[in-house]
Amino acid sequence: MSDILSPEDQHYLLNNLGPINVDEVAGNFNYNLFPEEVEQENDFLIIEDYKCEIDKTITPAPVTENVLTNEEYTGPYNFEVLIDPYGSKNAWVYSVPLNKVYMNMKIPFPVDFRVHDRPDFPLYIRTTPVYSAPQFAHENVYRCINHEFAPEDVQNHVRHHIIRCNNRLAEYEGEKSRNERLSVVIPFAMPQTGTENVREMFEFVCKNSCPVPGMNRRSIEVIFTLEDMSRKIYGRKVLNVRVCSCPKRDKEKDEKECFSGNLNPPQGKKRKMEKQDKKVLMSSDHHELKEYSVTIPVVGKQNAQQLVKYAHDLMAGEVVKRLNTGNVVPFRKCLSKINTVNIRESQN
Ligand SMILES: [Zn+2]
Repeated sequence: MSDILSPEDQHYLLNNLGPINVDEVAGNFNYNLFPEEVEQENDFLIIEDYKCEIDKTITPAPVTENVLTNEEYTGPYNFEVLIDPYGSKNAWVYSVPLNKVYMNMKIPFPVDFRVHDRPDFPLYIRTTPVYSAPQFAHENVYRCINHEFAPEDVQNHVRHHIIRCNNRLAEYEGEKSRNERLSVVIPFAMPQTGTENVREMFEFVCKNSCPVPGMNRRSIEVIFTLEDMSRKIYGRKVLNVRVCSCPKRDKEKDEKECFSGNLNPPQGKKRKMEKQDKKVLMSSDHHELKEYSVTIPVVGKQNAQQLVKYAHDLMAGEVVKRLNTGNVVPFRKCLSKINTVNIRESQN
């Protein structure tokens, strides 16, 4: 069965073309050319359907720690946070090797959440922005004055939050006047039939470049925690974020710096999201340093470009992963070949 077609499409293909054994087609390549995220592309969730079932009065207690840990924790329910890195028309861009998303202010940005073996008590997702650099980790992320006082149709205490979630049940926690850390908590809804994921839309309402008391050019990351109503944590994932005017340019700049060795990949450690691990693992053998070439026929130039981009990100991820430990030379060589690859029209 295909991972990227909807059940309806698969049914249609089966009736009209007969069964196709994908494994057979893939031959000995024990490696899925399509990233797992692609299967989520059609899973756009209509949140309204289940919102009414959630008890509005139950929300976890607010965050009180001075410094939040950014240690990733999959937890007992296999908490996963997924970002679609390949949407070509997106107003945001995602760097797989840096696990970093780049976007402008006020751009709605989808994040998919999922768990396995969901417990029978209500779960919540808390989203907290924090400064990435250890020297600022204890400081709370607030908005700049200009944006805070710009006309906006929200309750007063929401004005200080740089992250907004369009879920109507979102609770904005923490008080700037009490110097508290700010976070937004949403009930973790049940996924709709036919998908494991729950999609929520977020947006940022200040840029990294906003002046003090804003971010003032300090880099941030967003910590997603899976919690119960008493704030016990069952999972934690981290996403690096840059809110800027030129997302594409900044992503390219960061990646270039990273691959030329001037920058340690995302500050700190253990920044990879679950998804990235999987992607990197798809190359199956970690000690394998031989280079392979694959000729893959694809219809549509954009699709062909996506394949090349995927190959690029896969190799870039290997480089980052091995920067301090392993042999990056074959991967860098391969990366520069991919950068100059030509997409040609088939001759048949
Ligand atoms: Zn601002």
